[in-house]
Amino acid sequence: MNAPDADFIIIGSGPAGVSAAFPLIAAGRRVLMLDGGDDAGSQEESRSVRVLGSNLESLRTDDGSSPKLQTPAARGILESFRDQSGITGNGFFPIGSLARGGLSNIWGAQISYLDAEDIAAWPIDIASLQRSYEHVAKRIGISRNADSATGADSEPVLPLGATAAHVLHRHQAAKPADGSFRLFPAINAILSEARPGRAACDLRGDCLYGCPSGAIYDSRQDLLLLRKSPHFRLLDNMRAVSLTRSSRWTVGTADGSSFSAPRIILAAGVLGTAALLADLLPLGEQGLRLLNSPTLAVPLLCPTRLSRSPTPTHSLAQLGLSLRYGSGASDYVTGAIYEVGSLPAQSFINRMPLGRKAGRAAFETIASSLLVATIYYPGDQSRSYIHRDAAMGKRLTVSGGFAEGFGLRAEALKNALRREWKRLGLIQLPGASLAEPGIDAHFAGTLPMGATGAFGTSSDGELNHHPGLYIVDGSIIPDLSSKYITMTIMANADRVAHRLAATEAKPAL
Ligand SMILES: Cc1cc2nc3c(=O)[nH]c(=O)nc-3n(C[C@H](O)[C@H](O)[C@H](O)COP(=O)(O)OP(=O)(O)OC[C@H]3O[C@@H](n4cnc5c(N)ncnc54)[C@H](O)[C@@H]3O)c2cc1C
Repeated sequence: MNAPDADFIIIGSGPAGVSAAFPLIAAGRRVLMLDGGDDAGSQEESRSVRVLGSNLESLRTDDGSSPKLQTPAARGILESFRDQSGITGNGFFPIGSLARGGLSNIWGAQISYLDAEDIAAWPIDIASLQRSYEHVAKRIGISRNADSATGADSEPVLPLGATAAHVLHRHQAAKPADGSFRLFPAINAILSEARPGRAACDLRGDCLYGCPSGAIYDSRQDLLLLRKSPHFRLLDNMRAVSLTRSSRWTVGTADGSSFSAPRIILAAGVLGTAALLADLLPLGEQGLRLLNSPTLAVPLLCPTRLSRSPTPTHSLAQLGLSLRYGSGASDYVTGAIYEVGSLPAQSFINRMPLGRKAGRAAFETIASSLLVATIYYPGDQSRSYIHRDAAMGKRLTVSGGFAEGFGLRAEALKNALRREWKRLGLIQLPGASLAEPGIDAHFAGTLPMGATGAFGTSSDGELNHHPGLYIVDGSIIPDLSSKYITMTIMANADRVAHRLAATEAKPAL
């Protein structure tokens, strides 16, 4: 029999895949990474091309998804997944990527840390997760605020935009209507100090569409580092389509190639991993449970900032917020507040009851005083399932929905938030909307660690009944709090890979 192609094959080059690769190559293991896409276009185009398209095509698109997802930059990342993954949605936006670096090419780079309470049901200890948070934070660069309890590896804080700073000041000056309401400067994976190959944030304010200078973390930056190692090889345009095991695992790809290794690590994103495993899992009637965060977007006006000039800052989340709005364990939300000045103006102008020209003039007058709050519920407020579509052969459908009683919860939350906006001197504008499930791309819990049976994994992410097949993306995160998920996905992948490097003591070759 031919020699295996590597000790570990990692499928997927997004945040999870790269975070698993570093500890393995540091321990001298040979890692082959396969990615279904390639470099999803350069970040060099002008702002207007990135936002509106070379042919102004974004002005003609309005499919109800978030404005960011309608930009050419995002479409280049999302479309190939839509076309090739074989996953469709039913009341669910199946967001995934087939591009080098995965969804981190278009993520919002906002960071949350889970604490001991958040991971109480996980089969791991908080100290091991915290160690891995540190490893990841050090590698990717985080501009964090003094408010954050976890970790020492921080960089200086980036300046807040003037409207966000004004709102934060009001929050600090006046007592919250609800004692559990917290507002704080957002923690973002943005460099405030330059590193080799990456410039510091220059506060240009158009970073929602990718950062040409590399200040916002994106997994492609890690691939440049990984490729310097003789133990690491990345093959692009290698979409894995099958997994089979005899004496070792073999990955078959869409172009007919095959690669083998004693151990496979799946990091294809929750939906991509489910698609790859569909033939190995007993997907019955009900299908595979998927946790996702129901997402509320609330437009806000800060009247005292009307007609003021915007100040230089980045255009990702300015403020983080959290609120406990009821007594149940799930009545807890977190979120972010964005300044609107740098969002694509057309999506606002199109919705104003004015002609285009008047709409643009009105927008320019109020842009610097507009904010958008995005609020995430925990994943147990979702009811989404991945099914095999019997009529469509191997295709999968994700059906989306909300937990029972969610409508009442949503109303209670809106009322609690309204009181806080008022206290902060903000006017809630009409148009607050709950997004179609999936749009948040915060996914987890399909193959939870610690669960028994065919849909569970060990605490190291090894799929039950399939020795040597490991999963490191959000699939194995057992529950989904309302906090941002990617930092935890990365830290957990780092944790699993450290354990594999330590327990799989001898390289297989
Ligand atoms: C608009 C937007 C904003 C977001 N903002 C935030 C935020 O502010 N904070 C936060 O925490 N999270 C955010 N997220 C979520 C974040 O992007 C994801 O949690 C994160 O990218 C998941 O990482 P991953 O490596 O598990 O998967 P992905 O990033 O999806 O990477 C999967 C990789 O696997 C590859 N792949 C997939 N299938 C195959 C296959 N069959 N064969 C080979 N390769 C394959 C893909 O090409 C890709 O490289 C956001 C997401 C979106 C879309």
